[in-house]
Amino acid sequence: RAKDGGGNQPAFFEASMGDSAAESFRIERELRVAVQNHELRLYLQPQFNALGERVGAEALVRWQHPARGLIPPGAFIPVAEESDLIVELGVWVMTEACRLIAAATCAGLPLTLSVNLSPRHFRQKNFVAWLRDLLDKSGTPPSQLTLEITEGLIIDNVSDIVAKMNELSKIGVHFSIDDFGTGYSSLAYLKRLPIDELKIDKTFVQDAPHDPSDAALIETILAVARHLQLKVVAEGVETEEQAAFLNSRGEVIHQGYLFGRPEPAEDWIARWITISALSV
Ligand code: C2E
Ligand code: MG
Ligand code: MG
Ligand code: MG
Repeated sequence: RAKDGGGNQPAFFEASMGDSAAESFRIERELRVAVQNHELRLYLQPQFNALGERVGAEALVRWQHPARGLIPPGAFIPVAEESDLIVELGVWVMTEACRLIAAATCAGLPLTLSVNLSPRHFRQKNFVAWLRDLLDKSGTPPSQLTLEITEGLIIDNVSDIVAKMNELSKIGVHFSIDDFGTGYSSLAYLKRLPIDELKIDKTFVQDAPHDPSDAALIETILAVARHLQLKVVAEGVETEEQAAFLNSRGEVIHQGYLFGRPEPAEDWIARWITISALSV
């Protein structure tokens, strides 16, 4: 179970972590040193187009706890979001993601990574300057980085957010709206923001073949995306039936257990080394 990088959180964690103020406090205290103690791990989950070509991967963080094993992000991200701890964590994740993109690029294997960006991190005053510096120093082509944001980011201080997004978009960074359709914001922001991609939430994907309202929702998202020329990624594709449903409705990039589970980034690197060795 500890090796399973998937999104299903063991009930053990749900029952024992994050459900009381004292628990949150303990997680926060342990998480603070976890970053310094190198207990965070980056997992990558591949994304495929309809032809079966890998077009990218999402970076998903896990916590290798010395006593409790591998902890899924659902058990500690919400706690981290309560304080600037999420910024520290985001700095680690993005630094690691850029290191991977740069290493892959060096090995002649172009890799595009999607990274989840916390609103609190994005709202930091120096975020844009910091990210430009990171891209620069790590040798990461900005166009190989996609930032996944959620609709919740766009609720307040919209003009500041738009300015920051435009600045990053101008240098080539891509933006994706994660869990699209689960938030409360209006569709109008899609026109105002430099968005490249919408990610359909897995709750819609999972029932779509049998639930007419989920099916209608997905068709609507695809229609909006076509009009605004946005890419669409479906998350949580677990069955051939779901994949076939999506392919029958439009052009969709697939991400889900059917095609690949999140895997430790080191395993990807090991494969690249093998591939580069074979291609010499
Ligand atoms: P998300 O960004 O919506 O990521 C997709 C989640 O769906 C991941 O869960 C992934 O493992 C899971 N998933 C992928 N395919 C399938 C499938 O076929 N079936 C099912 N049932 N699940 C699937 P994970 O890794 O547990 O991450 C949960 C959430 O934690 C993420 O949702 C994201 O909101 C957050 N998160 C993860 N890593 C980071 C990070 O580095 N920074 C921030 N700020 N948040 C993160
Ligand atoms: Mg995501
Ligand atoms: Mg998502
Ligand atoms: Mg989700």
